[in-house]
Amino acid sequence: MPSPLPYPDRWSLDSWFSAFAAPDYVAFKATLAQDIETLKSQASALGSEVTEIVRVINTTEALGDRMGHLSAFLGCLSADDANNEAVKSDEAWIATLHAESTKLQASLQSALAALTDASFDAVLANPSLKHAEYAVKRMREEGRHQMKAEMEALAADLNVNGLHAWGRLYDTLTGKMEFPMTFPDGHTETVPMSRRRALMSEPDRKLREAAFHAGQKPFVDHEVTLAASLNGIAGTRLSLYGHRGLPHFLDTPLFDGGMSRASLDAMLEAIHTHIELPRRALRKAAKLQGTSALHFYDLEAPQIAAPDEKTLSWDDACATVDRAFSAAYPALGQYFRDMLKQRWIEAQPRAGKRPGAFCTGSEWKHEERVYMTFHGTVHDMVTLAHEVGHAWHSCVLRPARSYASSYPMTLAETASNFGEMILLSGLMSDSNMTPEMKAYLLDQEMLRAHAYLINIPMRYEFEKAFYTEHAAGEVSVTRLRELMNEAQSKLYGDTLLPEGTDPMFWASKMHFFITEVSFYNFPYVFGYLLSQALFARFQAEGPSFLPRYESFLAATGSASCEAVARQTLGADLTSPDFWATALRAIEPTLEAYEKV
Ligand SMILES: [Zn+2]
Repeated sequence: MPSPLPYPDRWSLDSWFSAFAAPDYVAFKATLAQDIETLKSQASALGSEVTEIVRVINTTEALGDRMGHLSAFLGCLSADDANNEAVKSDEAWIATLHAESTKLQASLQSALAALTDASFDAVLANPSLKHAEYAVKRMREEGRHQMKAEMEALAADLNVNGLHAWGRLYDTLTGKMEFPMTFPDGHTETVPMSRRRALMSEPDRKLREAAFHAGQKPFVDHEVTLAASLNGIAGTRLSLYGHRGLPHFLDTPLFDGGMSRASLDAMLEAIHTHIELPRRALRKAAKLQGTSALHFYDLEAPQIAAPDEKTLSWDDACATVDRAFSAAYPALGQYFRDMLKQRWIEAQPRAGKRPGAFCTGSEWKHEERVYMTFHGTVHDMVTLAHEVGHAWHSCVLRPARSYASSYPMTLAETASNFGEMILLSGLMSDSNMTPEMKAYLLDQEMLRAHAYLINIPMRYEFEKAFYTEHAAGEVSVTRLRELMNEAQSKLYGDTLLPEGTDPMFWASKMHFFITEVSFYNFPYVFGYLLSQALFARFQAEGPSFLPRYESFLAATGSASCEAVARQTLGADLTSPDFWATALRAIEPTLEAYEKV
C-alpha cells in the first residue's frame, strides 16, 4: 500500500555524522588519516609472508569502508550546498587521502604479483578471504601489469604535467570558448560553448542549425591545438601500455569493465548486423520533421514536444513511481517507500544546490542516498526511478562484503535502467496517460536507443581507428576529420544527409579527452543492451524472473560480466545471438513509435 502523503523531499544525513565538523566527525577524520598512514607503511614492507598479506588485505577493505563513508558524506554535503567552502576544503583533503590509499593498494598489488602460485593459493584459501577471491585475483592481475614501483611513481608524477595536462588544456581552452550567433529572430548574441548542446536539443530546427554552424568555428580555429592534445593523450597511454606489458590498447578498458574482448566483439557484431533497427527510429524522426534524412544537429532534438508538464507535483511523481514499482516489483516498491520514510532522498528545488542527480551510499552504515532536484517534469520523475534503481542494487548487495560488492561501469547501469523501464512500461499501460504523453515518452525512448546503439558505437569506432593509426605516429587534423566522417557513415548510413556529418566531433566531444579512462563509450552500450535483455526476460517470464534478477545483482561484484551472466541467467555474452536478442527487445517500442 502506498504510504500516506505527503512524501518528504528533503534528506537527512544525521545517521552518518551528527553534523559537519562536529566532534564525532573530527575524531573520525583524525583516526582514518592515522590508520591509512600506518597501513601504508605496513603494505610497503610486505614480503611473501602469507598471514601478513592476508591481514593487510582485510584491513585495507575495512579502511576502504570508512573512507567511502566519509567521502559519501562530503559528496552529499557539497552537492546539497555547493557554496560551502569548509566542505570543499575537506573534499580536497580527502582527495589527498585517496591518493595515499592508491599507493597503499599499489604496494599490496605488487606484493601479490610477486608471490609464487602456491603462496597465492594459500592467500586465497584463507577463510577470512571467503567471497573476496575475485577481488584478490584482480589485485594480483593489476600488480602483474605494473612497472617497477619507482617507475610507476615517476610516471604518476610526470602524468600530472603530461597526460593530465593535455586534458586540462582541453578543459581550459573549451571552457573559455564562446561564439557570436545570429538567432532565427535576427538578433545576435555571444553564446558560451557550454550552451551549444542545449541549443542543439531545441525543437526549433533553425535554432539548432545556427548553433551548430556558429559553434563549429572555435573548434576549427583551435583544431591544431586540440589535435595535439588528443595525440598527446593517446601517445602517452600507448607508451605506458608498452612498458606495463599490455599488448593492446583495449586491454585496460576491458579489464576495468570486467569483460572480455570476445564479448565486446560479439556485441559490436550484433549491432552492425542489426543496425537497421535503431536506424528506423532516425528515419521516423526525419519523417516527423519533414526532411529526407537528418543532420547531425537534429540527432539530440525531440521530435515530439513534452505536453504541458507544469502540473506534476513531487507527491504525484512519488505516487506514480510507487504505483509502477509496486505493481511490477513489490519489493522495489516497498524499498522506495522505505527510502522516502527514512529520508534517504533529496529532491527539493532550492538555491545553492548543484545540478545533476546521483545515487551514493555508505557500506560502513549500509545505507543509500539519492540526490536530485525535482522541477516538476516527467524527465525528473524518470530520473527518480533511475536513481532508486541504483540504490536498490546497493541494497541487494548489502549482505556481501565490500570486496564482493563493487561492480564495474559495464554492470553499473543495469539496475538503474531496469527501474526506469518499469516506470516507463507502467506509464505506457496507464489509462490516465494521454496519447500526447505516450507519444512524447516513445520519442524520448527512441532518442536513447539512438544514443546507445548508433552514436556511442560511432565514438568507439572512431577511437579504435584513431588508436590503431596512432601506433604509427601522430594523426593529422585532416586524418582525424576523415576518421570521424568514416565512423559516422559506417553507423548512420543514409539516415544522415550527405552534408549532415560532423567532422569536428572528435574535438567537440569532451569524452575523448578524459585522461582517467579511455574508451569512455562501449561500457555504456554494454550496460544499455544488457538491461534491455534483462527487462525483456522479465516481461516474458513475469515475477518468477525477479529472484534471478536479484541473484544477478548480488553477483555483480564477485565475478566477470561473462561469469555473472552465465551463472545467474544462463546467458552467453560472447555469442552475438545474445546481443541480437537484446537489440530486438527495442522492436515493440520502435513499432509503436513508427505508428505515431
Ligand atoms: Zn545511472
